[in-house]
Amino acid sequence: ASKNGGRNRATRFTADLEEERELSRALERDLALALDDGQLRMVYQPIHSIAGGEDEVEALVRWQHPLLGEISPARFIPAAERSGLMVQLGYWIVQRALDDLSRWPHLSMSINLSPLQLQQDGFVGFLMDCCRQHAITPQRVILEVTESLSIERNTRALMTLNLLRNAGFRIALDDFGTGYSSLCMMKTFKFDRLKLDRSLITDLGKDPTSQAVFDAAVTMALRIGAEVVAEGISEEGLVDPVRSAGCTHVQGYHYSRPIEAEAVNGYYESGPTVDRKSDRKVA
Ligand code: C2E
Ligand code: MG
Ligand code: MG
Ligand code: MG
Repeated sequence: ASKNGGRNRATRFTADLEEERELSRALERDLALALDDGQLRMVYQPIHSIAGGEDEVEALVRWQHPLLGEISPARFIPAAERSGLMVQLGYWIVQRALDDLSRWPHLSMSINLSPLQLQQDGFVGFLMDCCRQHAITPQRVILEVTESLSIERNTRALMTLNLLRNAGFRIALDDFGTGYSSLCMMKTFKFDRLKLDRSLITDLGKDPTSQAVFDAAVTMALRIGAEVVAEGISEEGLVDPVRSAGCTHVQGYHYSRPIEAEAVNGYYESGPTVDRKSDRKVA
């Protein structure tokens, strides 16, 4: 029975893989149309400074597929990277996001970049032009990168990052602690900010090992002079451990989910949502 079960499992696994490939090809095909068809939009998740710095949002792309419903960017960004659409999509995201930011003069904004964008000719010029057109100083824009294409070994991307930093943009290393980002990267490039991945945060307050690992990551970031954002604060219980570790910024469902562009001004006008002293959410 076990042999048979094994074969069935293997067949099912192969079928799943085939289905997965098929779906991924379909996504790549549909994405090209989605961009022209207005199926993509940006949403914005608040990032709160514990120290009382400026208010911020992170720009996150959404795809409302006509048949499949909302598709996660964790899924379609990789599809865009494979199909060669990422560069075009990236230009669209930056333009959309900075256009929104021009209507929020009191905010700073984080924008996620694919490593492919960093290798694009003229990308630095494009970003600077886009800022100039919208009367946005680069200082208000934080560019988030991950190591997925290994920036260390990619001199082109590294050069672009240096140019961007010299132009006044701040550079953040996203998803720190996930294995895509290594300690060596800290020596290769001077990041302005580290974003500690949700997986480092989930078990805080439950187990001392998690707390030790988290505290060490925060200490390292602070010692190299970087800001530290704790991502994925989804519940009240995570606030104290993150705060006592010394993080400079917090972000997560506990404070706010990503919100529509139209809701951003209202969110910040409705008063401070974080009591800076206790870092408690004020209802
Ligand atoms: P990321 O840049 O690390 O973004 C944070 C993700 O965590 C977002 O998912 C956000 O909605 C989610 N999140 C925030 N707080 C919480 C929480 O408390 N609990 C949980 N469970 N999740 C939380 P999202 O929007 O689905 O994006 C997933 C990833 O897709 C992003 O991870 C980023 O790597 C990529 N991505 C999203 N938008 C863009 C974009 O415009 N450009 C590029 N290149 N990548 C993007
Ligand atoms: Mg990010
Ligand atoms: Mg992240
Ligand atoms: Mg990510």
